[in-house]
Amino acid sequence: MRIVLLGSPGSGKGTQACKIITKYNIPHISTGDIFRDNIKRQTEIGIEAKKFIDKGLLVPDELTLQIVEDRFDQPDCAAGFLLDGFPRTLVQAEALEKEMISTGKKLDAVVNLEVNDDTIIRRMTGRRVCSKCGATYNLMYNKPIVDETCDKCGGSLYVRDDDKIETVTNRLKVYKTETQPLIDFYRDRGILITVNGEQDAEVVFQNISKALEQF
Ligand code: ADP
Ligand code: AMP
Repeated sequence: MRIVLLGSPGSGKGTQACKIITKYNIPHISTGDIFRDNIKRQTEIGIEAKKFIDKGLLVPDELTLQIVEDRFDQPDCAAGFLLDGFPRTLVQAEALEKEMISTGKKLDAVVNLEVNDDTIIRRMTGRRVCSKCGATYNLMYNKPIVDETCDKCGGSLYVRDDDKIETVTNRLKVYKTETQPLIDFYRDRGILITVNGEQDAEVVFQNISKALEQF
């Protein structure tokens, strides 16, 4: 399967990605995670990307396309993948389409998670991420058993720099102008699945699974 997860920041893409990759046994490609890993390791890519991420802006297409192309070159992508947070602009969507055509592959489905802005703001300000394994929690909806500690690996939880309220507002604006047009782009290609992302994460996953069975 080759699947794209679309949706505003905080709509639950990462949460659903973990469930989908386990079911379909495909690699999880999160451009946000790749950038955060580069920032942690202070690579050239990380230093450049951080300038944009901290302001709630998108990293320029050229740099983003470079990290995705490098990731596609890894052998685990041959049989399928789940893209989370990519593409986010029409330029990226067109580049992905070209890549699929040139390699004789096709995207199977694009899952669009619909969540309203008030919920997004609540979710992002309550988000906590494990500094060791990257697992995501939420202080309101999905608390760890022990405060500030990851249930899975015992790592300490942190607040993402770009989850501050000022940055969240900016990211939502950028989503509407840059990323929302992709909904029509993929609807026109007949591969768009829209799912109500407001429900409990397990219910959202069941609805995604049902919809994917048709593809
Ligand atoms: P994204 O990858 O789209 O930015 P995440 O999966 O990180 O979103 O989810 C954002 C926050 O909302 C996290 O704190 C996560 O635990 C929480 N969350 C995700 N899905 C749901 C849901 N269906 N209901 C309530 N909270 C959720
Ligand atoms: P995410 O973890 O998907 O919310 O991404 C965190 C941040 O990384 C975003 O707010 C952007 O600044 C940057 N980013 C991630 N993916 C992309 C992309 N496809 N294009 C441009 N910037 C991206």
